[in-house]
Order: sequence, then C-alpha cells, then structure tokens
Amino acid sequence: MLSFRFHGRGGQGIKTASQILGTAAFMADFQVQDFPLYGAERRGAPIVAFTRIGPDPILERGPVHSPDIVLVGDETLLTDPAAAPLNGAGGHTRVFINSSHGGEALKKHYALTTTPVSLNISDLCLHHLGKAHILSSALAAVAARLSGVIPLEPFNQALDLELSEQGLSDSALSKNRELVQAVFDQVSPLPDVDPSRTASTTSFKAETLVDLKQESVTAAAPIILAPANMEQRKTGNWRTQRPEIDPEHCNGCWVCFVRCPDGAIHIGEDGKPVIDYDHCKGCLICAQECPAHTIKSVREVTAWKEP
Ligand code: SF4
Ligand code: SF4
Repeated sequence: MLSFRFHGRGGQGIKTASQILGTAAFMADFQVQDFPLYGAERRGAPIVAFTRIGPDPILERGPVHSPDIVLVGDETLLTDPAAAPLNGAGGHTRVFINSSHGGEALKKHYALTTTPVSLNISDLCLHHLGKAHILSSALAAVAARLSGVIPLEPFNQALDLELSEQGLSDSALSKNRELVQAVFDQVSPLPDVDPSRTASTTSFKAETLVDLKQESVTAAAPIILAPANMEQRKTGNWRTQRPEIDPEHCNGCWVCFVRCPDGAIHIGEDGKPVIDYDHCKGCLICAQECPAHTIKSVREVTAWKEP
C-alpha cells in the first residue's frame, strides 16, 4: 500500500487533489481511500487530505500519520507549527514541495533530513489555468507521477470525472489536461516506491489509529478565555493573495475597515486604512468591497535567497 498526505491551505484544492489521485488509482485498478481533514476554518487555513492506494483491500482507517509521500502545496506551511506538514515523516517518506527552489536548497534552508522533490507548480498553474493558487490537478498529478503506478490515461479519466462534477467547462478541462501533461513531463517516478507492499508490511502500527492527543484548554477549547488572544495567532501566513491599497486613489471612505471580517484593517493618523499583514488572511473581501477599486490583489510568495 502507498499512503499520501497532502498539505495546503483552504481554497487551494487540496481535498480535490486527494480525490483526483484516489479516483485515478481506482481507474488504474487499485483499491483506494481518499478523504480530507479540516475543521470549521476558512479560506487560507491549513488543510490536510489523505489518499491510500494498494493492490489489496485497505483495512487501515483514519488519518495517515506516517505517509510514504508527503505533498506540500504551500511552502509557507513548513514554518507554521500549527500545520507541521512533515510530522510523522520517517525514513521511508518522500517529500514534494511546491517551490521555486531546488531540492538541495530547500533541504538546507528548512534543515530537512532528506532532499525533497521540488517543482514550482504554482507557476505552472498560473501559466495553464491563469490562477496560481488552484493546485488540485497539478498536485494530484505530481503524486501520481511520483508513485510511478498511475499512467496518464487513467489519470486524465479521473481528472475529467472529478472536475466535471465540480462544473468545469470543456475548455477548462482541456487546460487542466495540458497542465497535467506538463507535470507528467517534468516529474519523474521515485525509484524506491513499492506499491505492491501490503498494509501488513508497512510501518503501520495499530496504536496510531486513534490519536487522542489533548491540548491545553487555552489552545483546544472552542472559547476565547483571554482578551485579545487572537493577537497571538499570526494568521498572516494563511494568505495566498495579498491585498495592497493604492494610497493615491484611496478616498478614505473606510468601507474596507468596516468590511474586513478579521479586524485586520485599522485607520491611520492620516485617516487612511492600514492593513495589518500579521493577521490579514487574504480573503480579499476588502478588495471586493472597495468602491474606488483601489485595493489590488498581489500573489503572495515566500521569498528567500539561496546563499
Ligand atoms: S478583508 Fe482584506 S485586510 Fe481583511 S483579512 Fe480579508 S484581505 Fe485581509
Ligand atoms: S474601501 Fe477603498 S477607498 Fe475606501 S478607505 Fe478602503 S481602500 Fe480607501
């Protein structure tokens, strides 16, 4: 059996990626499971989804704690302790990171124990779909290609099935197929992945099925115990798009200040709005509501230089 764990942010198509992979594996005659795990969070919040594929019935249940392949759709999650995408990664785990940096640079920068596979799928999505943050098709294609056991044809059947159920037009489906072809061209199968392993020969241990880890009440309870404690959770790294106000054309109407659902805009001494990027989640409601259309959406990228 092969287990995959997808990490990304709400709105990036992480759940759909796991579904496309699961359906593609099914089309390629494997037994499959795929499912997401997320709470009541919204766009931008860390999301995780799982896929298991194997030649035999899959009896394992629950989240994948020690995956064979981890796919990190959003590089910013690597430094987010609430997401911890590499938790449970063992010696057998292979890691893919959506990044403009190469594997060796990523290994050094994030102090990883193994060299990850990397490809800038956001750029590919931007090129083929016109949107850098819709990662579902590309991320699923990376997973399929890395596994080495899901050919392009069943993958495309699954892609059409899953995306047409979401109402995509024929032309959008065709763009997604082009994107998938580009990913298949640029990613090579991992040499040491063995899908014929059965669940009994994996490192799976029954006691990891039920993980009832309890956090302290201040972190786990669905209530706010202390005033202003949301201040402590820097949700700015949830953003995939960043709102930027053009001060020249802002008329100071304060509509953005009123409409921001997270209170991430305050009014400066000059009467103009100021965005708190530590807490702005990038929902872009302010940009939609601004009557002067003076808030633009800028793609957020993790910027770091290789030494
Ligand atoms: S409304 Fe604007 S400032 Fe507020 S969280 Fe959304 S994007 Fe950020
Ligand atoms: S809604 Fe637009 S014009 Fe009004 S204060 Fe905000 S940025 Fe300025």
